[in-house]
Amino acid sequence: MGDSFDKLCEALAEFGWSAGAVKQVLDGGIQCIYCGKPMLQSFDDFRLWENDHILPKSKYPELAGDPEKKKEEEEEATRRNLVGACRVCNLLKSSWDPNNIEGEPEIYTKGGDFTDDMRRELIRRSRVYIHKLRTRKMAELNDTRRAFEAYWAEHPRVCDCQ
Ligand SMILES: [Zn+2]
Repeated sequence: MGDSFDKLCEALAEFGWSAGAVKQVLDGGIQCIYCGKPMLQSFDDFRLWENDHILPKSKYPELAGDPEKKKEEEEEATRRNLVGACRVCNLLKSSWDPNNIEGEPEIYTKGGDFTDDMRRELIRRSRVYIHKLRTRKMAELNDTRRAFEAYWAEHPRVCDCQ
C-alpha cells in the first residue's frame, strides 16, 4: 500500500496496532461503522472506540479471536469479521446475529468462505437493527426528560453542591 501506509503503521505500532487493524480502520473511514461517529474527534470518543465482531463470538468462534494468532487461512476471515464501532452501537448490537434474521436468507454458512460482500451485507443489516434500537431508546430519553421537566416545573431546582 506504499510508504505512507507503512509510515502510519510504524507510528501506530507503538500503541499496539497491527497492520491489519490499521487497514481495517482505514477501510471503515475512522468512524463508527454503524452510526458514523468520528472516533478521533474527542478523548471520550477515542477512549470508547471498540472492536465489534459482526458475527457474534458466542455463535461463530471460528471468526473470533485475535486474527494475528490464527492460522493463515483463518486470519483473513477473522479480520473481516471485525469492525471499529462506538461503545453505544457495540452495546446495542450486543450478541445479536445479523446472519440469522427471520424472513431473510442466511448469508454466511459455517465452514464456508466469509467474503467482503457478505461482510458488507451483514454490516448493512446491523446498521438497520441498531438504528431501530437507537430510535426506541431515543423515545425513552425524551419521555424521561419530559417527566423530569414536569417535576422541576413544580420544584424549582436548587443545587446544594455550590
Ligand atoms: Zn456508533
